[in-house]
Amino acid sequence: MLCQIVPEKCIACGLCQIYAPTVFDYTDDGLVFFKEEPLSKEIIVKEEQLETCLKAYQKCPTRAILLDHN
Ligand code: SF4
Repeated sequence: MLCQIVPEKCIACGLCQIYAPTVFDYTDDGLVFFKEEPLSKEIIVKEEQLETCLKAYQKCPTRAILLDHN
């Protein structure tokens, strides 16, 4: 599954790392980036990360995380 982030929408709430600590990390300002690909705005989520990533997607208050189910 494709996961995208929109750091411009991120309000640095920290929820996504609580729910998916292996997928998301933050800059010093608390803005989201992908832990394994810090320069990328999209990744293919690994099978074992799907469940936690879906939780983070659902909890993000600003829709700064997008998931493409196709
Ligand atoms: S849950 Fe959304 S708003 Fe909160 S830190 Fe993560 S991407 Fe940013």
